[in-house]
Amino acid sequence: MGCDGGTIPRRDELVRRKKKPEKKDKDAELSAKWKHCAISQEPLRNPILACELGRLYNKESVLEFLLDKSKFEFAENFSHIKSLKDVHELNFTDSSYMKCAEKGDAYIDSSSRSKYICPIAGLEMSGKYRFVYLLKCFCVFSERGLREVKSDTCSKCCKKYSSDEIIPLNGTPEEVEKLRSRIEERKLKAKLERRGKKKARAEAAVGVPPTEATDDEPPSKVAKLDSKPSSSSAKAPPKVASKLSLGKTKVKPEEKTIQNDPTKSTAYKSLFNTCEKARNQMQPHWITHNPLYY
Ligand SMILES: [Zn+2]
Repeated sequence: MGCDGGTIPRRDELVRRKKKPEKKDKDAELSAKWKHCAISQEPLRNPILACELGRLYNKESVLEFLLDKSKFEFAENFSHIKSLKDVHELNFTDSSYMKCAEKGDAYIDSSSRSKYICPIAGLEMSGKYRFVYLLKCFCVFSERGLREVKSDTCSKCCKKYSSDEIIPLNGTPEEVEKLRSRIEERKLKAKLERRGKKKARAEAAVGVPPTEATDDEPPSKVAKLDSKPSSSSAKAPPKVASKLSLGKTKVKPEEKTIQNDPTKSTAYKSLFNTCEKARNQMQPHWITHNPLYY
């Protein structure tokens, strides 16, 4: 048995073997992640943004994405980006100043070289080494460099940061899941803080000392209203005013009518059915009364 020309085939040319599972090209994968925008897959160029899941984006693409999500194929993967507040412009260290240090005639593949390096360890940001950014100042470092320094201040801009403000860039799927839950925690915390500040501001405007802040809000608002018409309560300290108002709240409904308002004239008051004359008027019964012969 042979092929044309009398060649003798070997066993591996005749026997069909199980196909090997498809493998990712590692270099292509790294390049896709570290040199291309996660949304548009275009090459990364300044200004580069990162979300809190550690993915890299072109600012241009993020703006386009926010304007029209239907243009992008995997828009649901980036649902955590709702505004420009959810992404941060990264503070990279350019590798250009390292070029003068290159010596010798060794071949350097410039296509695989990264534009950015770690300012501490001098490692290239090509995907070979793990890189992180800080959530306080958005400076980018290699994980190894950051570990070597062992400090809680950024060595580039001297801002303080805590350990949960380190976001790994292009992290593993497990890391991304963790980061996702951390985003929600952070958002909830910010919301509560904002609400607390708003409440404090409202109380400061009313003039109630912080000891009264534990009371319900309505009494403090009543205190503000009451202090205007009566001069005696206005002169009294705010603490007393709020106490007075608590007692007054029960009397209030019958107090606030047009008839006993001192600023209104009697002519104006007589227009209403609550005036003395109107109340004493004889009222015809609706069955016996004939409006034509009144
Ligand atoms: Zn910094």
